[in-house]
Amino acid sequence: MQLQHLLAPVAEHPSLRALELETILCFIQYALLARPTIRFYSVDARTPPALPSLAVQLVLAQCTGVSVETTKALWDVFKDLVWAAKEDNIPSTDAVYTFNKYALPLGISYYHLYPPVRACQNVSCGNYRATDDIRTLGEPATYKASLFTLRSGALPVYSTSLYCSKCNRRYHHNYFVHAKSDVQEYYAGVPNVIQASKHHFLDSALLEFITTSKVFGWLSAQNCARIYNMSLSSPLSAQLNNELAFGPVKMPDVPEQRHWQTSLELQDEHVLNGFFIYSLLLEKAERGQILSLGHKLNHRDRLQPALQERNQSMEGPGQEAYTHACDLCYVVYEGGDGRKMKIQAAVCDGITIGHPCCAVHDCKAPLATHRARFCDNHLRQYGSKCAVRECSDEKEKGFRTCPAHRSLEAAYFSKNTSVSQLRKRLQRARSHYGFSHGEESDEDEGEEVIVEAILPNTGPDCDGKSSEGNKKVKAYFGRRRTHNEQIIMRPCGVILSRATFFGSEAVSGVHKFMKATFPTPQSVPQLIAFDNGCQLHQHQDAIGDPHFKDTAVVVDVFHFKSKHKETDKYCAIHCNPAAFDEMMDGDKWRFNTSACEQCNSWLSGYQAVLRDMEMTRFNFYLDEMIKRRNRYTIQQLEGKGYKPWEVPAAALFPTDYGFRKEPELAEQDPVLYHEILRLRPLRWSMGLALLSRMSDFVAQLALPAD
Ligand SMILES: [Zn+2]
Ligand SMILES: [Zn+2]
Ligand SMILES: [Zn+2]
Ligand SMILES: [Zn+2]
Ligand SMILES: [Zn+2]
Repeated sequence: MQLQHLLAPVAEHPSLRALELETILCFIQYALLARPTIRFYSVDARTPPALPSLAVQLVLAQCTGVSVETTKALWDVFKDLVWAAKEDNIPSTDAVYTFNKYALPLGISYYHLYPPVRACQNVSCGNYRATDDIRTLGEPATYKASLFTLRSGALPVYSTSLYCSKCNRRYHHNYFVHAKSDVQEYYAGVPNVIQASKHHFLDSALLEFITTSKVFGWLSAQNCARIYNMSLSSPLSAQLNNELAFGPVKMPDVPEQRHWQTSLELQDEHVLNGFFIYSLLLEKAERGQILSLGHKLNHRDRLQPALQERNQSMEGPGQEAYTHACDLCYVVYEGGDGRKMKIQAAVCDGITIGHPCCAVHDCKAPLATHRARFCDNHLRQYGSKCAVRECSDEKEKGFRTCPAHRSLEAAYFSKNTSVSQLRKRLQRARSHYGFSHGEESDEDEGEEVIVEAILPNTGPDCDGKSSEGNKKVKAYFGRRRTHNEQIIMRPCGVILSRATFFGSEAVSGVHKFMKATFPTPQSVPQLIAFDNGCQLHQHQDAIGDPHFKDTAVVVDVFHFKSKHKETDKYCAIHCNPAAFDEMMDGDKWRFNTSACEQCNSWLSGYQAVLRDMEMTRFNFYLDEMIKRRNRYTIQQLEGKGYKPWEVPAAALFPTDYGFRKEPELAEQDPVLYHEILRLRPLRWSMGLALLSRMSDFVAQLALPAD
């Protein structure tokens, strides 16, 4: 816009002639803050209205410090400029405070949350419009809420929804709901602001910050909320937190904000809900899908089905980075006869983190309630019984044991010294069950698993060796936790899959988990490092499962030296990494597994955050952390020159395994198929050579014939 086009209209409005340029700039600034509201209420949004609503006129007049008449004149002159301006600047803190001071009492706010659409989106509805220019929705409903942003702090806002009277849908900021349905259908894509509860919204920038903090800092929701409230909720946090250094801070006073109905303090539940919804929306957007959630359930429960669905899709080969390969985990090797072969490696390991689970050994059913000790079934069976396992008596009201076992319960919960021995035993039992983390104090009495104790009155000395007369009992007091998380990763540190082991790290379970992770012959790696490799081998031999017959399951060098007897023939044949020339580069491992150790300690960091989390959320949380960490790992591998690439899924799952078969793919999606061919550094033999002899276990890569 040229200056002359502005000056001519200014001349027509005598009231504007005496205005300072500063006042005009000020008006434009506030008019931009009010623009979403002006736009929202105008029927045709293609051109600015002749005049904004009276409320907006009043707000602009007060913010600018001019009369309403002058405001009308300013709007007349500058409306086209305001309408066409790009919205990219973050307004100053002062501007936001000033705007809200006059706008909040009139039902308008800076960052007023409107639905992203003004016309009905239902194509079969008379109010449907392909563009948003003409508003066909009406009956606005407005309520007060809190918006937590990364860059502008915590803000009091209004949220306004619109209604389609023809098809009875109400359009909210993130989703729409049909009057007769209980489903919230989210809009496609990921919005800038995400609703975490009815009255609490978080912006995506903040949720991204929170999620990243969880990935690299193991931050609990509570600590995220604390950090936010202390350092991000006000743009003046540095001054406010350090008044001695900065001197007194004068905050602009917004009376309406002081008495705002919803708290401007971020709570941990909003952090967690926001994290789950944000992650779900990202995942849906990545897959080109739409999120829908049950409406009438409470906020916590309505997430459950969507979280479960994602958890299921992550099982086995569901992780995004599953098809990853790089120079550290995928080696092309030239055999003695000059044939090229590939060795792809994986590492299997257990990490002692877990969530509360049913107290009955190996029971995988979800707990009856979050605080319960049993699943529904076992609650019926054991809920009213004495906590001592072998005892079938009913427990007495107010206690967890029958009268005969009261002394054990008393000793267990007693704070006096006689119990220290019992607690020591408890700790031993714990470390036996894999919960020997130093930070878990023995004071944590609500969290016990199974207590293996020798009743105090049956023998004075209880150093672990129960003598003849001692009676060892097992009792369920607090809550039991799952035994460990089993992880399969590449030697470069990319995590392929994860499974919860409920009762123990039994090799039969490890075998099943490996098979679920590598379900087809093409996906099976040539090498798996597992520190209990010999037992796994024996198990596979015993059950006669040939799935991994071409895979060398070896113990890594460190574990082999310390744990496996070199004299044991079985170990010498099956575990000794040196027995596999192809695995060795001179006297060194071809695959360096130190990245896996870093990975393990990273995962172990979630123990404190996840220990009380309900199963569905626990799984989702951990999978999301892994997905994010993998992206980072791959980025690092790229930077270090290890050339990460992706093995085409069609090559790993040529038969119908939920993936499309390759020939079909070529027909249905030639563009994708071409991309797969382009990515393939060496042409894959679809059979990937199922070789049976040990010396030959390295699968052969078919090289291009030409
Ligand atoms: Zn409609
Ligand atoms: Zn790799
Ligand atoms: Zn159970
Ligand atoms: Zn009893
Ligand atoms: Zn061994």
